[in-house]
Amino acid sequence: MENDARIGITSTVPVEVIFAAGSTPVDINNLFITAAQPASLVRRAKMDGFPDTTCSWICGLYGAVMERGIRRVVGVTGGDCAETLALMEVLAHRGVEVIPFAYPHDRDRARLREEIHDFAARLGTDVNAAERVKTRLDAVRARPHMLDELLWKEDRATGEEVRLVELMASDFNGDPDAYAAMAGEKIAEIQAREPVRSRVRLGVLGVPPIVTDLYDWIERDGVRVVYSEVERQFTLPVPGTLEESYRAYTYPYGIYARLDDIEREVRARRIDGVIHYVQAFCFRGIEDLVLRSRLTVPVLTLQGDLPTRVTETMKIRIEAFTDMLKRAGGRA
Ligand code: SF4
Repeated sequence: MENDARIGITSTVPVEVIFAAGSTPVDINNLFITAAQPASLVRRAKMDGFPDTTCSWICGLYGAVMERGIRRVVGVTGGDCAETLALMEVLAHRGVEVIPFAYPHDRDRARLREEIHDFAARLGTDVNAAERVKTRLDAVRARPHMLDELLWKEDRATGEEVRLVELMASDFNGDPDAYAAMAGEKIAEIQAREPVRSRVRLGVLGVPPIVTDLYDWIERDGVRVVYSEVERQFTLPVPGTLEESYRAYTYPYGIYARLDDIEREVRARRIDGVIHYVQAFCFRGIEDLVLRSRLTVPVLTLQGDLPTRVTETMKIRIEAFTDMLKRAGGRA
């Protein structure tokens, strides 16, 4: 059957195991947000009974699985949100096979190793085969890492173009060789450019924005995003064994694991301020409180809901924030 090799993922998991098993990972987030009508996938979930207070990413994931006929999905049962758990229950109810994978909350090495082992066994492969794929994929990941350096060290790229390549690293669009070629072309294109001088260097923190033109509105008039926290994490910034890389990957381990990475990068990248993107009805909005009290740079919190375009209110708030940073001494 045409679709048998596809395994949907809703969050970054050790895709090496999926490739080693001869299957193809499909990041359903990307299917959703790049669909011709992402809002129609959210509507599909609502029509099938999802409450109005459900996060739109969850609704879109459900809609994409249903519309694209995905029959197997990895359910991240530790290190993701409660809404994802409920989504997995609904998908199982709809006859989708849910394959569990859990990140241990305390980042325990032995438990993470066990999880990867069990995940591999469930898919009919083993950790050694997955480690061989890991070596190969780390060479591919070196390309988005280089793009990231062209972004913040050499100032030749925009945050949006780098972030889009980083987002695709969650599943390599199912074809790591084609992904490597695409990223290589992007590197060559950017290396040929002159460095750009930015008046304000920003970071964007939080789940990838559902608002598709957000970066277009941020990156104008001398403002550039030089750090997209979660998108960069999707490229596994720390190479090594499966256990090493997926333990260093911050996203599943709570706000304090993320904060260590955020604080280090804000300093290294000489960031003037950060935008914390939060999703309506997402628990991560509460973490804004901790972020604000720990970070020493100004924070603008923006909330999105449906997969639409930037609202007038968001535009005004972005402009006021970046103007304030420019007046506060950005890089004239
Ligand atoms: S945005 Fe928040 S609630 Fe929605 S899927 Fe992501 S973590 Fe879960």
